[in-house]
Amino acid sequence: TGSPHEAVVLVTGGSGLVGSALNHVISTADDPRFARRQNERWVFVTSKDADLREYEQTLALFEKHRPTHVIHLAAFVGGLFNNMTHQADFLRYNTLLNDNVEKVVSCLSTCIFPDKTTYPIDETMVHNGPPHKSNYGYAHAKRMIDVANRAWNEQYGCKFTSVIPTNIFGPHDNFNLEDSHVIPGLLHKCYLAKRDNTELSVAGSGTPLRQFIFSHDLAKLFIWVLREYEEIDPIILSVGESDEISIKDVADGVVSAVGFQGEIAWDRSKADGQHKKTASNAKLMKSLPDFKFTPFNEGDCWLSKKRKCPKGNR
Ligand code: GDP
Repeated sequence: TGSPHEAVVLVTGGSGLVGSALNHVISTADDPRFARRQNERWVFVTSKDADLREYEQTLALFEKHRPTHVIHLAAFVGGLFNNMTHQADFLRYNTLLNDNVEKVVSCLSTCIFPDKTTYPIDETMVHNGPPHKSNYGYAHAKRMIDVANRAWNEQYGCKFTSVIPTNIFGPHDNFNLEDSHVIPGLLHKCYLAKRDNTELSVAGSGTPLRQFIFSHDLAKLFIWVLREYEEIDPIILSVGESDEISIKDVADGVVSAVGFQGEIAWDRSKADGQHKKTASNAKLMKSLPDFKFTPFNEGDCWLSKKRKCPKGNR
């Protein structure tokens, strides 16, 4: 169906933190750089539409939508899938079908970088040494996407590339108390502490440093990568090094967004994780020098309908 020149963008993991932000931005952006184009059809799929670990289901999904472009966000984290192998499978199956597929953008993570490294981390360092032993399975599976992208480019000329976001936050995140990331986890805990008049317990020392990108900003950058970024090499999608903040800053931001007046208790029996993983966004800023990131303290605008959101960010 559709005209022969229609681009069909298939987004896997379409209902998650990044997928829902993409859906929001592509349907509401005023800026033509990020708005849906006339000849584009965007299809957001979830694990309900197809289990991408299953060949037949993946094949059927591709035959149904016949995508020309794929943004591959389907998650292994948050308990959605336990299996780290399906990204490679996905790419392999995808290649079988790629008469149609012009471009694939896959999503890596800063935790795949070598454990022992210099800072800031940049895109050239992905394979420079073993990852942290706590997540070597995940890290190697993700690193293999970059290897596959190169191989398919060399042998078949495919435009398969990848992006490396830093820590992400925004609506439609996983807010479970047990296995969420720090911002949704603390928002949930702070909401409960306010409701129950208790202290807010925050894991660790508060000193670790992270770069947080608002999901709607990240969605815009994904759209730019899909349309404009021509390299196979990965690109880091992040706020700058100077926008790195501490977990204490995060806790203060959450407390102020929730309007919590009680005490914060630092639970030092819980892990800090990596102290920092400072990433350079120099490559991104060279291509998009005018891109404006939502400041961290305005990224909570989606929490309350009363707050005024910077235009286009809701
Ligand atoms: P990652 O460490 O970058 O993979 O991301 P997380 O969001 O899981 O954790 C970031 C930091 O926040 C770590 O230093 C945690 O110790 C700290 N932290 C404090 N409270 C919480 C919490 O309730 N949940 C999580 N996930 N992290 C927390």
